[in-house]
Amino acid sequence: MAFEVSLTTDSKKPENLTQSENVSFADLGEFSSLGQYIMECPDAKLTMKSKLFLKDLLKLTGLEISFGVMEPNNKWPFAHRHKNNEELYLVLSGNGVMEADGKEYDLKEGSVMRVAPAAVRRLSSGDRGLTYICIQTRKDSLEGYTMTDAEIL
Ligand code: ZN
Repeated sequence: MAFEVSLTTDSKKPENLTQSENVSFADLGEFSSLGQYIMECPDAKLTMKSKLFLKDLLKLTGLEISFGVMEPNNKWPFAHRHKNNEELYLVLSGNGVMEADGKEYDLKEGSVMRVAPAAVRRLSSGDRGLTYICIQTRKDSLEGYTMTDAEIL
């Protein structure tokens, strides 16, 4: 099975989507409307409300990134870990708790957290809900970065 993830028919849709060989662009709308995105993975029989993955939308080749919005006092329906990808969570607003490898980490606006592939993780939102970005990238894949990869023109 492919386990592809896509927007549902009743999901909010990005605007001004442009895809070319060297550039992809989209307007997702204001962050307060991120909760209107709904994605599904038919092969996993999974519907994800308030979730937007960008890899396919922007034709990303080296990472997956998603926006997540959780209503107050909610919890992911399952814990999970990854085979190869580490995850970076960036909290934009709200509060919550990430449980990783049996330890709890309090999250609030500005919290940043790396979770290695093997760590079992489960996210909960607090009384103010939680809006976050999650970046997945293959562990140990980064070779050049910032000034060791950029070419100043
Ligand atoms: Zn994950």
